[in-house]
Amino acid sequence: ERLVESVADREDQAVEAALRPKDLGEFIGQEKVREQLDLVLRAARARGATADHVLLSGAPGLGKTTLSMIIAAEMEAPIRITSGPAIQHAGDLAAILSSLQEGEVLFLDEIHRMSRPAEEMLYMAMEDFRVDVIVGKGPGATAIPLELPPFTLVGATTRAGLLPPPLRDRFGFTAHMEFYEPGELERVVHRSAALLDVEIDAAGAAEIAGRSRGTPRIANRLLRRVRDYAQVKADGRITQDVAAAALAVYEVDARGLDRLDRAVLEALLKLFGGGPVGLSTLAVAVGEERETVEEVAEPFLVREGLLARTPRGRVATPAAWSHLGLTPPRSQAA
Ligand code: ATP
Repeated sequence: ERLVESVADREDQAVEAALRPKDLGEFIGQEKVREQLDLVLRAARARGATADHVLLSGAPGLGKTTLSMIIAAEMEAPIRITSGPAIQHAGDLAAILSSLQEGEVLFLDEIHRMSRPAEEMLYMAMEDFRVDVIVGKGPGATAIPLELPPFTLVGATTRAGLLPPPLRDRFGFTAHMEFYEPGELERVVHRSAALLDVEIDAAGAAEIAGRSRGTPRIANRLLRRVRDYAQVKADGRITQDVAAAALAVYEVDARGLDRLDRAVLEALLKLFGGGPVGLSTLAVAVGEERETVEEVAEPFLVREGLLARTPRGRVATPAAWSHLGLTPPRSQAA
């Protein structure tokens, strides 16, 4: 079972890579970010210089990795990809930094999860293109300064506010990525379908886009599952009916809620009368970890206006009752 799973995962990753836009022109939506980044990169190219450090903030799956690869491609520079949690010690970072080529793009995902010493080393590297490598231990330890070639750091984080100000301030350009509009996601779906050589009509694309939670990565994932269904159960073409039937099988509802989201809402409504109820109690009721409920299910439910976080606990909104087809108890109906 694990083997099958990992093969499927790898296949998905390969498809994912094939669907990545290769340049800014192919990148859909995020108009402001694209316009600003285009200026930053063009100006750097015209000066024959390395681009300024770029900070990308936004929810998972909105295209931060994709944009970092586009930055490298537009600068005709190589790219190195790593992440905050992968850098345990300052020495790990020193090893990466000292092996960078001139102009190289270093993509640091989840930059807010780097260790303190690594973070401090990064300050100097970003500002002066220099690191101090500590040789030896204890009183005999010495710091050997090491010059670095100019490079472009592209940092990614879910929220810019998670970064300490000294780090945030060292980025020359900060871009905040928003969730995508339904129309933009429809374009993502059409583009990906064409690359996958799948036939899809406008209503089919709209159906998938509407259930994708404003997120291109989810749109691509749903498209692949709908494609499977269309091949097995229909003639391979994706229409609205095919998309809706396929996504019902995968328990993704008309608003994009999945099984976990619905379990949380149902517990909140049916067991706790719509709340307020504490996060821990709610998590136990759905048999999940607190963190899973808080970080995976809730952000989307809050954004959709189905759930509110209040000082007294989690509360369902009237829209939550109607989305699940339930009637609120009388005390809340007003
Ligand atoms: P994470 O923060 O979790 O790493 P991410 O924001 O880096 O996520 P990506 O991996 O860059 O997300 O994007 C996910 C997928 O969505 C990519 O494979 C890409 O095909 C698609 N995608 C993202 N943004 C766009 C876009 N603007 N236009 C078309 N496709 C996009």
